[in-house]
Amino acid sequence: MNGFTHGSQSKRPHFVLVPLMAQGHTIPMIDLAHLLASHGALVTFVTTPLNARRIESVIQHAKELELPIKFLPLPFNYAEAGLPEGCENLDMLRDGLQEFAAFLEICFSNKDPLISYLREQEMPPSCLISDLTQPWTGEVAREFGIPRLGFLGFSAFSTLCRDITIHHKIYDNVTDENEPVPIPGFPHPLEISKTKSFLSFNPPGMEKIRKNIAEENSKSEGIIVNTFLEMESLYIHSYEKLTGKKAWAVGPMCLYNKGLKQMVSRGNKASIDEQRCLKWLDSMEKGSVLFVNFGSLANIVPLQVMEIGLGLEASRKPFIWVLKAGDKMPEIEQWLIQEKFEERVRDRGLIIKGWAPQVMILSHKAVGGFLTHCGWNSSIESICNGVPLLTWPQFGDQFQNEILVADILKVGIKIGVERSVVWGSEKSDEVMVKRDHMERKVLELMDEGKEGMERRVRARELGDKAKAAMEEGGSSYKNIELLIKVVQERAK
Ligand code: UDP
Repeated sequence: MNGFTHGSQSKRPHFVLVPLMAQGHTIPMIDLAHLLASHGALVTFVTTPLNARRIESVIQHAKELELPIKFLPLPFNYAEAGLPEGCENLDMLRDGLQEFAAFLEICFSNKDPLISYLREQEMPPSCLISDLTQPWTGEVAREFGIPRLGFLGFSAFSTLCRDITIHHKIYDNVTDENEPVPIPGFPHPLEISKTKSFLSFNPPGMEKIRKNIAEENSKSEGIIVNTFLEMESLYIHSYEKLTGKKAWAVGPMCLYNKGLKQMVSRGNKASIDEQRCLKWLDSMEKGSVLFVNFGSLANIVPLQVMEIGLGLEASRKPFIWVLKAGDKMPEIEQWLIQEKFEERVRDRGLIIKGWAPQVMILSHKAVGGFLTHCGWNSSIESICNGVPLLTWPQFGDQFQNEILVADILKVGIKIGVERSVVWGSEKSDEVMVKRDHMERKVLELMDEGKEGMERRVRARELGDKAKAAMEEGGSSYKNIELLIKVVQERAK
């Protein structure tokens, strides 16, 4: 689709989507673009040249489906901020948190190019959906007199925690970061220590941007949440009551996929041939495989990776293990070779070095458990496929997602980490989970006794509700339709 034209499209609302260039934020926004377009809206999706190359097949696929989505790559001036060449995604930062503020600052320079671009378009924008970390989009929305909705990529549970935390400044005088602190006004009793709060992802040099984000957030007309009412209505309604803003639950957005191609190429090219992966999965018994993946940002230190490997081996359960190896982690590569690890587990283990087709794997019937860092996308992708989780949060909202899936929904168990890690400054000699513990927890999750079976049933039932929410007439389906209608009315 090269451009929106008048005629049949003239009455359709035009959504402009501005994500943060990080996998956990762009992937659900791409799903949102597809959802909106498949429900009849026009969509402009802002990206960068490198990110556009990464999702080339998604762009191609949207064209084949004749969806009215325009992918707009705006230049990303990494060099200006002293970032390495081609550093256009958070997963490419060298020093994690240290470079985060600089990365966000660069995005501000997209404001004028985006305004100029939109002015030139035949179809004026009707609504801007912006990642919360992109406050500069507020001015773009005001320039065109259109509503701006925020997207954070969190669960409603952790969004509510975050807003209450900010509102009541609950950690301001806390000296012991491990001390559980009550969350006032939460719809049920809840205590979270500072180390397990979203403040564990606390980049330096962010004061100004954070203020800016909070100001724009307070002006936005609502938020889009990748969740569904049947799972999180309590938190969605509490959020709406607390803020007076509408929270649109339109997920799980990953369920919008039109076939294998879309599942395989989410965010990046997969590092394994999907047919090889599917053949391997097909050869395994139903519900027998543990999938192990820590998302796009977490850096698991080599000593810990080795313990994970040895724990997996000792459990004797079939597994797919995604790891950063190769040039990125020469120590791991060496360890795998020296230990002949792949040979040792070849009858039951598949190792993917790099990027895995996660949604394709999670939706396969052979998968019966997911060891995850609890990023919200990974959590909800597991939930909607009815796969129980073994939770190993690292930082940010991940500990709150752990509480939601393990304590509240009871579709997961905790591996038992009590502290967050500092992204980009992980301690290379720190092993948080030893191999024996790992083995025990894997066996507990994959157990087919009473507790394990009850957890599976709960997970399956929740997965069914998730699917129903996205089907025609379901709660998220209706919300997408309503959102489009409301924006259309406003545009008139
Ligand atoms: N993902 C994937 N393959 C990988 C790693 C991640 O497809 O090997 C996808 C995953 O399905 C999810 C996103 O990347 O949609 C990661 O988002 P999440 O919020 O779980 O974690 P983050 O990467 O932001 O920590």
